Amino acid sequence: MSGQGSCERPVFIADHMLGKLARWLRIVGYDTVFSPRFSDADIARVALREKRIVLTRDRGLVARAAVTRCIFIRSQEHGDQLRQVFEVLNLTPDAGRIFSICPVCNRSVTAVEKESVRGAVPEYVFETKENFSKCPECGRVFWRGTHHQRTIAKFMKIFRKG
Ligand SMILES: [Zn+2]
Repeated sequence: MSGQGSCERPVFIADHMLGKLARWLRIVGYDTVFSPRFSDADIARVALREKRIVLTRDRGLVARAAVTRCIFIRSQEHGDQLRQVFEVLNLTPDAGRIFSICPVCNRSVTAVEKESVRGAVPEYVFETKENFSKCPECGRVFWRGTHHQRTIAKFMKIFRKG
């Protein structure tokens, strides 16, 4: 799962008003830096250093971030926001990428041996699923269960609205 995306796949940094959008971008597989503590200057600096696209609802930050790529987010609703980012960059919704990045840490998750998650996931999940992945940062375990299905459904609904 690792190794892809550094050349073509856009990476983002979201301002303090866009925490929910940042979480969604991670859920659908886009590397997105977010911290509620970042100042405008921090965001501009990280964006420049890591070639990240700035996502912001702040006109002032748009001006400051002019040296790098920036998308001014119009809506206050995270579904509309996500759709705007996909439209502006002409990205294709890809359900296969869901949970390839940890929504909490923004780290790529990696496939792990089934045996290694025994006790870390509910017993019925362990009994019925074969493929697990794990966040190297927080240790959260991911699998394709009902939560995964519900997330895909939500994701697809966002794009049907458009
Ligand atoms: Zn994590």
